[in-house]
Amino acid sequence: MASPYRGRFAPSPTGPLHLGHLRTFLVAWLRARKAGGSILMRMEDLDPPRVVAGAAEAIYRDLEWLGLSWDGEAMVQSDRTAAYEEALSRLESSGHLYPCICSRKDIAAAIAGASSAPHGVEGLGVRYPGTCRDGSGSSSKPPSIRFRMPEPPPTFVDENAGPVDGHDWGGDFVVRRADGLFAYQLAVVVDDIAQGITEVVRGADLLPSTPRQLAIFAALGATPPAFLHVPLLLGTDGRRLSKRFGSVAIGDYREGGAAPQALVGMLAASLGLVAPGAEVMPEELIPPFDAALLPKEPAPLAPSPGGLLPS
Ligand code: GLU
Repeated sequence: MASPYRGRFAPSPTGPLHLGHLRTFLVAWLRARKAGGSILMRMEDLDPPRVVAGAAEAIYRDLEWLGLSWDGEAMVQSDRTAAYEEALSRLESSGHLYPCICSRKDIAAAIAGASSAPHGVEGLGVRYPGTCRDGSGSSSKPPSIRFRMPEPPPTFVDENAGPVDGHDWGGDFVVRRADGLFAYQLAVVVDDIAQGITEVVRGADLLPSTPRQLAIFAALGATPPAFLHVPLLLGTDGRRLSKRFGSVAIGDYREGGAAPQALVGMLAASLGLVAPGAEVMPEELIPPFDAALLPKEPAPLAPSPGGLLPS
């Protein structure tokens, strides 16, 4: 028998929850509830300088207000150092890691000098040039730790986007930063394994991270979850959602007296689940929810008759 569905909410407490996050969480919640499975909470407070005081509590409050319940206690990444250390030492002993003394500047210079890359910046379509792969020089500063990306990199079939070939999405990547902080790529995999996640539902901005995470799952000998990436939410004008619409923070809507049904309805309309203008709670969306209806491309919000957004 297939294992029961386990999804997760994995917010970062680096600011308030906004409409884009909420729409992705709505899909994650509906996937889990429709499957009769569970949805777990994980607070990704991995990067202390970026954590905003009170943001985690505000995110919990916003989700509860909207009827997006989760199962059990939240896992909190700042409590998980021992688990990340342990995974790192396993990856180290199996030869998947190496120290890297390259600074951002060194990498940019190597990329600019060695390739036709448009910008000398490591990232999408621009690989770390592998300078330290076969042994780093010496440096008085502590190194970062990189993971050796297999060649070819893992491919996968996204539950929404279809087959994904991450070939151009970067080479060896950092799993522990030079300042000692664990990188998102490592923590998210260790935690998805620990929480027994069977499907990751998240924003399409994280699609390029997935081949990297699949490589870590394989190196740790773990079965990876399925992935469903939700395309970006756009404003009613088809442009990137931003403050042009007034606030897009959920807390501001709540404090301004908006009904949760109006917010959920507006987002559900952008997912093709209800007609524009419908007011619903997440619970009512379980029967009509169908992942096949999800947009494949960035999709705009429908203008809201309830005055939630300027039309
Ligand atoms: N914490 C990440 C974010 O808020 C999401 C990580 C994930 O879903 O894998 O962008």
